[in-house]
Amino acid sequence: MTLLLPALQSPTGPAASREAVRFGALSLAYGELAAASTALAARIADAGRVAVWATPTPETVIAVVAALRAGVPAVPLNPRTGERELAHILGDSEPTAVLAGPDDELPPALEKLRRVMVDARAAAASGAPEGSEAYGAVPGVSAMGEADGAGDARPAAYGIAEAGPEDPALIVYTSGTTGPPKGAVLPRRAVAASLDALEDAWGWTGDDVLVHALPLFHVHGLILGVLGPLRRGGSVRHLGKFSPEGVARELGSGGTMLFGVPTMYHRLAEVLAGPAGTAERDSLAEALGGARLLVSGSAALPVHDHERIAAATGRRVIERYGMTETLMNTGIRADGVARPGTVGPPLAGVELRLAEDDGTVLDEPGAIGEIQVRGPNLFTGYLNRPDATAAAHTADGWFRTGDVGTVDPDGYVTIVGRKATDLIKSGGYKIGAGEIENVLLAHPGVREVAVTGEEDPDLGERVVAWVVATDPGSPPSAEELADRVAAQLAPHKRPRTVRYLDALPRNDLGKIMKRSLRA
Ligand code: ATP
Ligand code: MG
Repeated sequence: MTLLLPALQSPTGPAASREAVRFGALSLAYGELAAASTALAARIADAGRVAVWATPTPETVIAVVAALRAGVPAVPLNPRTGERELAHILGDSEPTAVLAGPDDELPPALEKLRRVMVDARAAAASGAPEGSEAYGAVPGVSAMGEADGAGDARPAAYGIAEAGPEDPALIVYTSGTTGPPKGAVLPRRAVAASLDALEDAWGWTGDDVLVHALPLFHVHGLILGVLGPLRRGGSVRHLGKFSPEGVARELGSGGTMLFGVPTMYHRLAEVLAGPAGTAERDSLAEALGGARLLVSGSAALPVHDHERIAAATGRRVIERYGMTETLMNTGIRADGVARPGTVGPPLAGVELRLAEDDGTVLDEPGAIGEIQVRGPNLFTGYLNRPDATAAAHTADGWFRTGDVGTVDPDGYVTIVGRKATDLIKSGGYKIGAGEIENVLLAHPGVREVAVTGEEDPDLGERVVAWVVATDPGSPPSAEELADRVAAQLAPHKRPRTVRYLDALPRNDLGKIMKRSLRA
């Protein structure tokens, strides 16, 4: 079979000294990463599954690569996740061990894991009902400091386990935007297929140096942002914590690509919108303008931010659309046209269609329907959830994304939003929350906005806008905002209610938790 990470097979010569990953001042070359991950792989070879305490550190990369080498599925954990959710994920995935490092990260990890385990044991002892969030298996915790390849006496036989294409590489939990996170089982075949489709779309090579600051426990930051460069033999520089200065510094000193979520591009757009002539703004504009690719994903990039960045840098941010379960589905090509608000055509190997709830396939121009996909990029199912896996597929084998969209005659997909929270059925119309959000975000008095539907006796559902004002002391009036939507879009899209908030509830990827707004 094709190897997932050929550049880490047995690097020698200049290939061994090429930088693989850098986190601040800490850098690992291909040779070092290969040696450290081989040593750790030998220690976890008998594990059924390992969880990885996924801090943005070289150790996380070593742990994930070691698991891939050993053919042991890895479950990345969000170190900041609440104890309840951590218990849910550990109980569901039952890892043999949790890999945590470096040393200064260990005490808080151990303390949190201990609390979760003690609570779980107590719940088990008090006869918690079956199916509760308590879990029985208590994983061991391995420190990784001693697994450093340097002092290891083991022979330098690298080798990556002869795992088959359908063997699980990773079990990644969904973001939990619409319900408790589900573990998506991702076979090696899907990871390879999706990364190769991005190589095709973006001309991604081993010469690319990727800059990002994404968390390493989701598809975006870990699979695209770390395994992507490693599969190509290229480099990744992780900022640790996102900052516009960090982006300017790394893109200005050799970085070629930037991956980010819309909240990050929003912060870049805010700096770029500042007065020209300041060092901060100008160096950022120059660095972004010089990058080969600026890529956004995980949520919709507001059109207003897209345009502000294009105006200041001459570069258009390109969007790609993916999910934990499907990895990447669509993306603007490097040589394609980035139209704001669209996520591009299906990637190589991906089949995409629009369908109604009853299964009717929609192919007339302009149709709005659920996006369904098929292809080698798909997961094999949710861990321990055959019910949810079955419900997520149609009888003829397509995956239901739960997202609603349209497809242009040239194959470009536009995402209207999630079926559950972003499609408002009001007065007989289907209204997408996204376009209303884009109109409101372009108002200078609006800093953040989320549009939802609420039950209404006359309309079925009514459009509600949740607004964070730029100046909370004098927010734009509800009437002014509603008129703007009616004038720019259509009268039936006018928000009937405007509610003002200090901030919107967001998760770690900056996604707006509309579920909690509605509650
Ligand atoms: P959960 O499934 O647990 O509710 P989630 O769907 O947010 O959480 P992910 O798999 O991380 O978990 O996110 C996938 C979703 O993110 C997609 O279904 C889509 O709604 C959204 N998304 C991803 N990329 C884009 C994009 N470029 N534009 C708009 N939405 C996007
Ligand atoms: Mg989802």
